[in-house]
Amino acid sequence: MLADYQKKLQKELKILKKNGMLKNFINGELKDSVSKDSFELTSPVDGKKICDVTSSNHKDIDKAAKAAAKAFKTWKNIDHKERRDILNRIADNIEKYADEIAVLESYDTGQPIRFTKKAAIRGAANFRYFAEKTIDAANGLSTPDTHHMNFSIRQPIGAVGIITPWNAPFMLSTWKIAPALASGCTVVHKPAEDSPVTAMILAKAAKEAGLPDGVWNVVHGLGHTAGKALTEHEDIKAIAFVGETTTGSHIMRQGADTLKRVHFELGGKNPVIVFDDAEMDRALDAVIFMKYSLNGERCTSSSRLLLHEKVYDTFIKKLLARVKKLKIGNPLDPKTEIGPLIHRGHQEKVLSYAKLAKEEGANILTGGGSPKGKLAEGCYVNPILLDGVTPKMRIGQEEVFGPFLSVFKFKTEAQAIKIANSVRYGLTAYIWTNDTSRAHRIARDVEAGMVWVNSQNVRHLPTPFGGMKYSGIGRDGGEYSFDFYMETKNICIAYGTHTIPKLGS
Ligand code: NAD
Repeated sequence: MLADYQKKLQKELKILKKNGMLKNFINGELKDSVSKDSFELTSPVDGKKICDVTSSNHKDIDKAAKAAAKAFKTWKNIDHKERRDILNRIADNIEKYADEIAVLESYDTGQPIRFTKKAAIRGAANFRYFAEKTIDAANGLSTPDTHHMNFSIRQPIGAVGIITPWNAPFMLSTWKIAPALASGCTVVHKPAEDSPVTAMILAKAAKEAGLPDGVWNVVHGLGHTAGKALTEHEDIKAIAFVGETTTGSHIMRQGADTLKRVHFELGGKNPVIVFDDAEMDRALDAVIFMKYSLNGERCTSSSRLLLHEKVYDTFIKKLLARVKKLKIGNPLDPKTEIGPLIHRGHQEKVLSYAKLAKEEGANILTGGGSPKGKLAEGCYVNPILLDGVTPKMRIGQEEVFGPFLSVFKFKTEAQAIKIANSVRYGLTAYIWTNDTSRAHRIARDVEAGMVWVNSQNVRHLPTPFGGMKYSGIGRDGGEYSFDFYMETKNICIAYGTHTIPKLGS
């Protein structure tokens, strides 16, 4: 199977090579950046070059933003059924390209193929879901009073900027772009510079589906040049951003002069709380999955495990045995569970947290180094498990964004809540207990935008997705996405029966 995927990858890399540089996609055409600058993209798997990527600045952003603003004039009024059909055709095309998306995403990000194989399916599902919602996107409320009829309608806000991170680039891009298009907005997408490849397959899928030129543009480049220019552009009415909390702060500042509407999905340091009455085997599977899947580079990962003292020793023993058995390897191998991290800098960052953990007095139960031999070419980290962690330690507070799990011990429910809420983040929380009342109490009191009880993160598209505190602003999903991408307009029509005050009579 590894050989099959490697063969597929070689075919895709040949095509990339033949096409030359990864270009911008503006107004339906592939374009080099105005400056002709570029940067080299390498794979975290073996350090080899994947391709050159055009590096854009404010001039390219200006072209893309203007194309999107122009296309908005027609796209916002296109027949809803036609818009729905185009989105459904984009979903069909995404499924058609599932194999190439999977192998390229694995090689570009280091994410194991067992997960990237599902990226196209999930991406297509996002488009299909919002395709159907297109029909209702403009719906509002009717709120009459005695003398007036009030009703609201929703209208798309305009051209929007979408800025995505490197960890799950394909799926996250579809998650943002599908509702924007369904609302009637047009898009300038700036993919992460560390994993930009599959964004071009997405744009190709859209072009082939008959999406009008200019409705969806892709501009490659670095955050402080292309990204910044996008957030400052006058024609861009809103920014949907997924990435680090500090970048969110920059974007808020950058967008202040043009009063950008922002939607932020940021970092997390999410707790999973396991009580002594929980179903231990299911909790164990979920804890491991939610921290070590996607290489731990997952905003919703449960990076802090809070264990009740009565089950602490037995749970840790089983957990340690399983973590030691996680299969590290080439992400194209279907057996691989942990691939390389996105780049050398990130690998070093994660390893530096293992060093810090020792200095802070936590116990490293396993991991912390890198595998030797052939895998040393890539940015691999042996999965890390630590116990004896307290909220005072930096490793108990900061987002590591890797296969790094910190374990805390608690005795009472109040202690568990205190530890869970002791960080600045508030994205997700996971609770394992068979006591229904306790589950309700903790779900109410834990500071997180999303709480799962007796479950790992299972996404249901109509539900609100987003974080509290430093984990984000706003919610995605179903109607919540339309709140962001659309303006609500109230229209008040008098029945002609109300009094109008007379002045100067
Ligand atoms: P990042 O913030 O470094 O980069 C994200 C994107 O922002 C990239 O495209 C980058 O080029 C761009 N960018 C950087 N500086 C910019 C600026 N000044 N102006 C405009 N754009 C700029 O994040 P990352 O390292 O790519 O991704 C990892 C982070 O993303 C983690 O913190 C993770 O928790 C977070 N994340 C959050 C969610 C969520 O749903 N909450 C999902 C996935 C990832």
